[in-house]
Amino acid sequence: MKRIVFVSGKGGTGKSTVAASLSLLVENKMLADCDVDAPDLDILLKGAHANQEDFYSAAVAEIDPALCTLCGKCAKTCRFGAVNVRFEIDPTNCEGCGACVRACPEGAISMHDVKTGETYVDSTERGTFAHARLSIGEEASGKLVTAVKRRMEATANGEVWALIDGSPGIGCAVIASIAGADAAVAVCEPTVSGLSDLMRVLDTAAHFGIPAFACINKYDLNMEMTSRIEELCRGRGVPVLARLPFDPDVMKALQGHMTPVEAGLSAFTNEIRAMWEKLAAELDRRQSERR
Ligand code: SF4
Ligand code: SF4
Repeated sequence: MKRIVFVSGKGGTGKSTVAASLSLLVENKMLADCDVDAPDLDILLKGAHANQEDFYSAAVAEIDPALCTLCGKCAKTCRFGAVNVRFEIDPTNCEGCGACVRACPEGAISMHDVKTGETYVDSTERGTFAHARLSIGEEASGKLVTAVKRRMEATANGEVWALIDGSPGIGCAVIASIAGADAAVAVCEPTVSGLSDLMRVLDTAAHFGIPAFACINKYDLNMEMTSRIEELCRGRGVPVLARLPFDPDVMKALQGHMTPVEAGLSAFTNEIRAMWEKLAAELDRRQSERR
């Protein structure tokens, strides 16, 4: 199975729209939404939860009042102010560092795993789809992204492609998104910050040795910037797979929970289809060169 991850320097560039559109055009694939901070692919894929699992990642400290002698050493040790004056731990402030466990002379403190989210594997008309939801107040983590990918892989049944909507940015969740991918497609917009974000994402992919490609969304809003992006991509040997036109009907389609493909937006659909053909051909070409 070839794993293609769609990434961007920040949210809102259109990578989920691209991934969801391809879910209608690519045969024999699995899908995953690794943008665990702001998942939205499920809205467009309209699947039914086939399987849900709790996800535990953070650990928080807990004091056993029966053993506590109120010596105060834990409160003095905690640098996060998580131990209050009654020597109780506020789990929302606890960073799980474990320093208080070592400081307590009575062995009254222990660490406990806490649920930070849920992972799902859905059955959809477009293929098996793995995704996650963070619990309220929790932060996106590379561990949760990895859990989503593992759950997708565990249900693989001879599919040829995995289309993965990755996390935006260049942090831990993004690194987990692109780990093991056969290609990263960076979706950007033609703005100064879009260009800067794209370069950071391409640097991240290059650092981890993931073949990178670019896709310029709303390219016609700033032709000068689009040319600059193409020039910089050329200089880095990064193929620009697609220029997607700005079309206010794309937003209207998304507001109606439809991809531009379902909404019959032909210019967008044709460009996405051509983009996929270029990507598949390029991956084939690179694979045969390695043989
Ligand atoms: S260090 Fe241990 S014994 Fe002392 S106040 Fe904290 S929990 Fe209680
Ligand atoms: S685990 Fe760390 S952050 Fe949490 S209460 Fe103990 S010292 Fe404070």
